Amino acid sequence: MPRFGNQERKYLDEVLASGNLFYAGGEKTKNLCAKFGKMIGVKYCATASSGTAAIHAAIGALELPPGSEVITTPITDMGTVIGPLYQNLIPVFADVDPFTYNITADTIARALTDRTRAIIVVHLAGNPAEMDEILALARERNLFVIEDCAQSYGAKYKNKPVGTMGNIGCFSLNQYKHITCGDGGLAVTRDEDLYEKICKFTDKYYDRTHAGRRPTALAPNYRMTELQAAVALAQLQQLENITNRRNAIGNQINRAIAPLQGITPHKVYPHNFCSYWFTMFRVNPAVLGCSRDEFATALKHEKVPASGGYIDYPLYMEPVFAKKAFFPGGVWPAEVIAGHPVRYEAGACPVAEEVLKTAIRVSVSEDFSDKQVQACIEGVERAYAGVRE
Ligand SMILES: *Cc1c(COP(=O)(O)O)cnc(C)c1O
Repeated sequence: MPRFGNQERKYLDEVLASGNLFYAGGEKTKNLCAKFGKMIGVKYCATASSGTAAIHAAIGALELPPGSEVITTPITDMGTVIGPLYQNLIPVFADVDPFTYNITADTIARALTDRTRAIIVVHLAGNPAEMDEILALARERNLFVIEDCAQSYGAKYKNKPVGTMGNIGCFSLNQYKHITCGDGGLAVTRDEDLYEKICKFTDKYYDRTHAGRRPTALAPNYRMTELQAAVALAQLQQLENITNRRNAIGNQINRAIAPLQGITPHKVYPHNFCSYWFTMFRVNPAVLGCSRDEFATALKHEKVPASGGYIDYPLYMEPVFAKKAFFPGGVWPAEVIAGHPVRYEAGACPVAEEVLKTAIRVSVSEDFSDKQVQACIEGVERAYAGVRE
């Protein structure tokens, strides 16, 4: 199926005919927010130029004092932490569950300090994090919760859509996500005050709803245009089909590989609905009789759409973190303000490091036919039989 069709073309034509490509006062941006908010059951929805921008605006809206700590996962996209870093906040990485690959209340608790002010929960690969315990901890410690839902459109935790449980939920519309408008982002919240701050934060802190331009804070220009909103609005019509199909495919693959000794499938709790941006199993090389990379090669030979891991290293081991090279000149203002050294070193989150060394990611796409899914499963089984010989 082509990703874009008549609906996208129609909305784009309408935008061009309207003579206005600017979001404020534009119909498509307004409709996109109304429709997405309604789909997930949240009153307020704001647009941004990317998922990273949506998260930056969300973190900016919290108005945390510079030097505050924000706990998140080391298995995620840079986009999760770019906003906190620009806001002079300190990302602190909590370890992950060995099989869901998400942070948990337990791992977050171990990363808490008296400087912690917020948690950014990433529902990795469309698999919801265990939110009840995380929200309870956040309440107890008076912490904000931002949900990074860039990979988890349509996912549900105990029947609750992800993005609706924390203070703010953020979504990405880049080319590679479940739905796309090239680049774009959405931020949802039930909190009117946070909503207004997010809106201002994506627009130079101009207040377009109350006709006041005079900015009271510093903010970038992260505006979406009517062109992106037109495509995103059309894409929403496909979202439920996409997430249902991905859920069925991911579950089918995970069920099929579960009996294989030495392989542990992506753990999805029965009370959750996973929308599988991908699925990622782990290998035990001692049982399998070969390394992760050798098994990934065997899978390639069997034409399974798989590759080793999701990212090579946890974020804190990337050079930008290891060297704290966030700003030129070797000075990191947040660290200076905090008044104590911050360390990003190998060994900090041993489970995350082990996961990334032993994981194999299998692509999931709504475009896979039943036959292709079956071929993928049989390919895994053949590769498995091959290495176990
Ligand atoms: C894609 C992604 C982002 C960033 O989204 P962009 O639209 O590319 O800026 C943030 N967090 C996660 C988990 C992502 O997968």
